Amino acid sequence: MNFFFDYERSELAKILTPSFRATQIFKAVYQHGIDDFEAMTDLPKAQRALLAEQWDIKLPVVHRRFDSADGTRRYLVRLHDAEMAETVLIPEENRNTVCISSQIGCALACTFCLTGQLGLIRNLSPGEIVTQALIAQRDNKAGALRPSPGASRLPLPMGEGQTFNIVLMGMGEPLHNYDNVMKAIRILHDDEGLNMSMSRITLSTAGLLPGLQRLAEEPMIPNLAISLTGATNSKRDQLMPINRKYPIEQLLDAVRRFPLKHRQRVTFEYVLLRGVTDAPEDALHLVRLLRGMRAKVNLIPLNEAEELNYRRPSDVAVERFKRILTDHHIDAFVRKQRGDDISAACGQLRQKVSLSH
Ligand code: SAH
Repeated sequence: MNFFFDYERSELAKILTPSFRATQIFKAVYQHGIDDFEAMTDLPKAQRALLAEQWDIKLPVVHRRFDSADGTRRYLVRLHDAEMAETVLIPEENRNTVCISSQIGCALACTFCLTGQLGLIRNLSPGEIVTQALIAQRDNKAGALRPSPGASRLPLPMGEGQTFNIVLMGMGEPLHNYDNVMKAIRILHDDEGLNMSMSRITLSTAGLLPGLQRLAEEPMIPNLAISLTGATNSKRDQLMPINRKYPIEQLLDAVRRFPLKHRQRVTFEYVLLRGVTDAPEDALHLVRLLRGMRAKVNLIPLNEAEELNYRRPSDVAVERFKRILTDHHIDAFVRKQRGDDISAACGQLRQKVSLSH
């Protein structure tokens, strides 16, 4: 059995006869949400039966969904080998964001991230990445009809053509699973499928330099986010071991050369850790680092966990840090903590199934 969602339309066109079946089936699955060949009445009956024997077009099952009081939802998606992909749906004022995983676990071992403590379990296939977005999108449509009790703000309905954003900020390092991630992005982007614009997809990386250089050469490039967190090599070496291999100046050099469209900017994510990355001096290092770049900064006050030896800074320290950046004409935003009551906030994803929810 082939997992349909692992394939680009151009690949399907080479396998199926006649080749235009690829477009027909793509539309049925991605645009009309059909998950049964029998319902594709524009295909000859004999071919429907044959396709059903060869292609799996069912979405993976949601093993568990956690609903946050703020409307955020976290999904544990059960994969064929019983591993769980984690996906988060974040409702916002005028759009929804789906945060999807690229790996189970992560190899990079950032010291402030719970996923990093898992180590890498395995890569996700293109279809396992694509279907996370579909699951959240469709659940959201259904959820608009059946509001979950206790949610103070419900996700906006995401009907056909309605905007939602995808961020590759769940479990894993996307550039460490490069080929599968890029294939997933091309499938999501296909105009006979979900037709997601590249400007609504953001790839976030901890700074895997070879992957970043490869990405810069792609014909289709999503938005780029760089997880920085340390503004000097000595600090970043401690927090993000990947920095020992690809130090800050090399990383920023590659970002400076990264192709950007008109008015497009690179986002830098910076986790604020009390007494470690939140001092005015750190902010000034950051200012120096980003000077002259088309960049904005997302400040993420640490989401605390028992297993982590760091604390979240005070709100005053967060504001002070932000002020230093904005005083130096760097756009900075403080990321609101969402879904922390269901372990769905940044850095908290790691298959914590045994919650009281
Ligand atoms: N590996 C990629 C994709 C994961 S994105 C990357 O690092 O960019 C996950 C984001 O959550 C990163 O920006 C990371 O810095 C942030 N993060 C990790 N642990 C966190 C924590 N405990 N609190 C707040 N943010 C955290």
